[in-house]
Amino acid sequence: MRFEFVQPETLSQALETLAQHGDEAKIIAGGTAVVLMLQQKLIAPAVLVSLGRLPGLDYIRADATGLHLGPLTPLRRIARSPLVREQFPALAQACAEVGNVRIQNQATLGGNLAEADYASDPPAVLLALDAAVTLAGPAGSRTLALADFVLGFYTTALAPDEIITDIFVPLPPAGSRMTYLKYKSRASEDRPCVGVAALAAFENDTCIDLRVAVGAACEVPRRLVEVEALARGQALRPGLIADIAAGYAANIETLPDLRGSAWYKTEMVRVYVQRALELVRQ
Ligand SMILES: Cc1cc2nc3c(=O)[nH]c(=O)nc-3n(C[C@H](O)[C@H](O)[C@H](O)COP(=O)(O)OP(=O)(O)OC[C@H]3O[C@@H](n4cnc5c(N)ncnc54)[C@H](O)[C@@H]3O)c2cc1C
Repeated sequence: MRFEFVQPETLSQALETLAQHGDEAKIIAGGTAVVLMLQQKLIAPAVLVSLGRLPGLDYIRADATGLHLGPLTPLRRIARSPLVREQFPALAQACAEVGNVRIQNQATLGGNLAEADYASDPPAVLLALDAAVTLAGPAGSRTLALADFVLGFYTTALAPDEIITDIFVPLPPAGSRMTYLKYKSRASEDRPCVGVAALAAFENDTCIDLRVAVGAACEVPRRLVEVEALARGQALRPGLIADIAAGYAANIETLPDLRGSAWYKTEMVRVYVQRALELVRQ
């Protein structure tokens, strides 16, 4: 297989190269997904555009409104960042759950989101945190909620000439509790069979905000706002937790694969939503 390998030194050079080659170009960041796709001949780009030399896209920065993550930030840095671990522990947890340490060192957050493999860990947490993704393209930048960025099976809103330039995670409600649970059905370093992120905020014992995002079991990470709403104004008692878990199991269309049948994944969605809610309840 022959392709041209281009290493732009600025974002505008990278965007120009993408605009010039259109569908014939493929971005490579950490390469953990792209190299496998090339080896398996799933893709045959004429031009491979490396983001590795672009300055200023590998960062973890907090401001008064939340956390900005550069798309080239390796998952391992996010997992080990004291800032992320303190303010967004479930995000650190999800990045630390990805594959193994070698993969986490190489894989970038932008690459993980752009790949849109349904069996991924970070997207569920980012969905529960209401994260947003900024894309740069020839006509300027646009920012999309994560729910509008991941559109389907390996499909995102990215145009061939766009690059993810920022991932923003707003501060969660004060005093909220959050967790991420990954269930692996085959091996300890496997991708998730089911991943569940849950965030709950309370006033005294009353839940004022509940967000539950299920990933990996379905084509795209899913939140069910009508089921989440059952918790609002209530204490998260065992019966309510069981109802919410049953609501997720009943309304998420699970995707059968080597990690489990649709029936099995539905059962695991119920079990893991329940476990996640038991961890975040007061
Ligand atoms: C053995 C193994 C185990 C794994 N286990 C897990 C797991 O348990 N959980 C999990 O979530 N993931 C897992 N992964 C997937 C891994 O997390 C992703 O492959 C990785 O995050 C992709 O990042 P990358 O930088 O390597 O992307 P690349 O391989 O470089 O690119 C991936 C895709 O993103 C595009 N892209 C990259 N950066 C950008 C950008 N800034 N803007 C626009 N498009 C971009 C590329 O064109 C390509 O389509 C595993 C991968 C391997 C190989």
